[in-house]
Amino acid sequence: MDEQEIKLPKGIFILSLDMELAWGTRGEKKLMGHYAKERQIIDSLLFLFEKYRIKATWAMVGHLFLDNCRPINGVNHPEIVRPNYKWLKGDWFDIDPASNIEKTPEWYGKDIVYKILNCRVAQEIGCHTFSHIIVGEPGCAADAFDSELKVCRNLAWQQGVGLKSFVFPKNMIGHLKTLKENNFLCFRGVNKNWYKYFPEKLKMIAHAIDNYFILPASAVSPIKEKGIWNLAGSYFYVHKSGWARFLPVSFRVAKSKAGIKKAVQQCKVFHLWFHPFNLASSPEELLAGLEKIFAYVNSWRQKGMLDNFTMGETAEYLNSQI
Ligand SMILES: [Zn+2]
Ligand SMILES: [Zn+2]
Repeated sequence: MDEQEIKLPKGIFILSLDMELAWGTRGEKKLMGHYAKERQIIDSLLFLFEKYRIKATWAMVGHLFLDNCRPINGVNHPEIVRPNYKWLKGDWFDIDPASNIEKTPEWYGKDIVYKILNCRVAQEIGCHTFSHIIVGEPGCAADAFDSELKVCRNLAWQQGVGLKSFVFPKNMIGHLKTLKENNFLCFRGVNKNWYKYFPEKLKMIAHAIDNYFILPASAVSPIKEKGIWNLAGSYFYVHKSGWARFLPVSFRVAKSKAGIKKAVQQCKVFHLWFHPFNLASSPEELLAGLEKIFAYVNSWRQKGMLDNFTMGETAEYLNSQI
């Protein structure tokens, strides 16, 4: 059977974070200020996770396991097979400062790995490729993806971490077979929403409408695709910039609560996600909103009607049920 769906005994709350610093935008200048604030935001998040006993999956760009790197025979990371995108000029790693964490902290994150591993509520470290290659885009061959995954797995092992969960850069899914061959158990699929199949431009408008009208976020069922669990996203906790500048934080909270309630009632998963730097657009307000969501999760958890698992734990549980 190619696709398999499992009925859960109760709802699950999953939180996944795309941890990429400057790699996600290849160092977009206007966001550098947000990346500079990211470590402080991570501290605040970990504080909230301890306070509310929340486990999250941190999907890390593998380069962030490093605190320095330098070219070998003039080439940055020669062990990585380069993607070949139409829009790419020069070498994929031209953006890599090939320096160290003190000089260019936006490109290295070994300290962040330690912070996460030292959280008193056990967190999961997952994978978001080594250098934020867009796996699902034409030009990314399976061997390029495979070489990135292998380097990530080795770097994670050096920290005692076994990678189980994967988040695709830009949520562009591809090469599931390669992911499975590299022993991953699950990935976060594209948010299940009513505008999922709209063209890109309309999707942005629909995304704004969806948020301003507080349509409830969806609860999702895990689906096994090609031997690996798709734990689709339910809701992207929206930043407070651009079109979302005027979107009150209470709307994000209401939307999340409605999705959590659905997960409880339908025994499904509510999968919340964002990038820690998204909170840099208005840290205090957005963190306060998250705190309300976590308190709500706990109110259901105390009643025994909701669990909070990492992506990896969810996949392991599902595998034990087959
Ligand atoms: Zn490097
Ligand atoms: Zn990303």
